[in-house]
Amino acid sequence: IPASPHFATQTLCEIGHPPETIATLNEMLDWHVAQHGERTHITFYVDEERTEEITYRMLQTESRELAAGLRTQGLGNGDRIAIMLPTGREFFTAFYGALYSGCVPVPLYPPTRPSQIEDHMRRIAGIITNAEASILVTDERAKALGHLLRAQCSSLRSVVTVSELSGPIIPQPLPRPNAQDIALLQYTSGSTGNPKGVVLTHTNLLANLRAMEQASGITSADIFVSWLPLYHDMGLIGACMGSLSVGFLLVLMSPLAFLARPSRWLWTIHRHRATVSAAPNFAYELCANKLDDRDLDGLDLSCWRLAYNGAEPVSSDTLSHFAARLAPYGFGPKAMTPVYGLAESSVGLAFPPLGRGPLIDRVDREALSGTGIALVASMEDPNPRHIVSCGRPLPEHAIRIVDATGQVLPERRQGMVQFQGPSATRGYFRNPEATKLLFDGPWLNTGDLGYLATEDLYLTGREKDIIIRGGHNIHPQELEEAVNQVRGVHKGGVAVFPATAPQTGTERLVVLAEIKEFARNKERSRIQSEINRLAIDLLGLPVDDIVLVPPRTVLKTSSGKIRRSACRERYERGVLINAHHKPWRQILHL
Ligand code: ATP
Ligand code: MG
Repeated sequence: IPASPHFATQTLCEIGHPPETIATLNEMLDWHVAQHGERTHITFYVDEERTEEITYRMLQTESRELAAGLRTQGLGNGDRIAIMLPTGREFFTAFYGALYSGCVPVPLYPPTRPSQIEDHMRRIAGIITNAEASILVTDERAKALGHLLRAQCSSLRSVVTVSELSGPIIPQPLPRPNAQDIALLQYTSGSTGNPKGVVLTHTNLLANLRAMEQASGITSADIFVSWLPLYHDMGLIGACMGSLSVGFLLVLMSPLAFLARPSRWLWTIHRHRATVSAAPNFAYELCANKLDDRDLDGLDLSCWRLAYNGAEPVSSDTLSHFAARLAPYGFGPKAMTPVYGLAESSVGLAFPPLGRGPLIDRVDREALSGTGIALVASMEDPNPRHIVSCGRPLPEHAIRIVDATGQVLPERRQGMVQFQGPSATRGYFRNPEATKLLFDGPWLNTGDLGYLATEDLYLTGREKDIIIRGGHNIHPQELEEAVNQVRGVHKGGVAVFPATAPQTGTERLVVLAEIKEFARNKERSRIQSEINRLAIDLLGLPVDDIVLVPPRTVLKTSSGKIRRSACRERYERGVLINAHHKPWRQILHL
């Protein structure tokens, strides 16, 4: 599909830079409207042929109408507005409408996986209750779900759509927020427990956006394609607010459109001659494996300067698979840009130096798991661990590694990753216990483990997921990555965790692996013995239990991350496979 003239006309010229004196998101949007209100802010992907544009002025007008509606209902002054809307114009109207009215937006994910709907509903209800949201803004399709939530959440007064809420602009002026007011409650993904509401002020967000802009060299002439969900920090803050603070064009596609046909992502980059895009590792792996040559015929990705890879562990194998698959289509060797961040730091925390390309450390597996020292592996080492650098702290931010006693560790010593800087949250909303654990003086605990080497940060795992066996630290993701490559295993559907055996009370190492389709006995034993062989190779010991399950059994966050402790809890209760999977129950003799 050649770049059509329709899209080519969207190539945008550079605009002036928003002044550093702008201190809130509201002022930022107003500034764009005053300077170039008719400029396109977001282009929504509709299908291969069609797009819908929204200018800065349209966004401001529609948001103010919604803000007027909220004010009429007596809302403002930091009241929380839950927003459960798919990717589209209404999400932005609701989001900036909440900000213009003086409320705090709380984006929620619309549940999509039927097999895990109860679990998702419980988590969403937990978020609304914690945020004490007064209103849920949603669309007609999700209203029934909204009413179910209202029955469970006592703070929720009403469930409304954008059009029901929007009214004519009221004559009184809308309030002007302060830089230190809360601009967003960004709930964490909930990989290690329940999602926590990270408090982010206008100052935090703008500091993070400006630091990322500096580290990436992005300008208003760039074009960013994103299919990332709007309830997650990388999509909402990194892509959408980035577009607001820098002024680059954002081309937005829904996550479902991407998942239904991953090649759409790459073709959208091609058509718009986009320069920047971002995704978690799994999306790059998916593209490397799932696209066949017919999907890619004529594709030219030479325009793609920055391919951010973050939000979950970056696999060195994925980097080489993706590069090998897409290099013939113009994907540059230095475009892949592994980055690290977390909601507690707004979104970004470490970015690599510009134009460097991925940097991969080869370390001695035994030394790292036994002594915590990231010893460079010898050239003869047949089985080193490859760890991808996530770059260096963003400007004005600092990262350090400490041990369990709080002692700062030297380079190449694995420990707990801490950070500080202007993007850092002041804590979790209505959660003093978790907030207390977050801080170590001026430093914030990320909950991640890693080491520094020549200023670069290398992540090795998460504190909560670590399994200690015979004096060795086992990082589940190491084995998960390998098991994902076993033939017959559903990629991305593997969880490794420790569990207590119900009868004996002893700790067991468990591998839970989804298999593609029901496999015959012989096939199942092949998969099991391959998993055992991998465990012996990588960890030096066999696993205690390998459970092969149907697709969609492994619990994940709304952003697709494995929830190991939730899987463990289900395993221990013996309820891994639910009624939904009845035929499998019979086949697996459960
Ligand atoms: P919760 O805190 O509720 O358990 P979460 O930590 O997954 O969920 P997010 O803030 O969305 O919620 O994700 C941040 C986490 O994602 C980081 O702490 C880190 O564990 C992981 N992460 C992000 N980028 C990378 C990366 N490049 N490599 C490895 N892990 C990463
Ligand atoms: Mg976290």
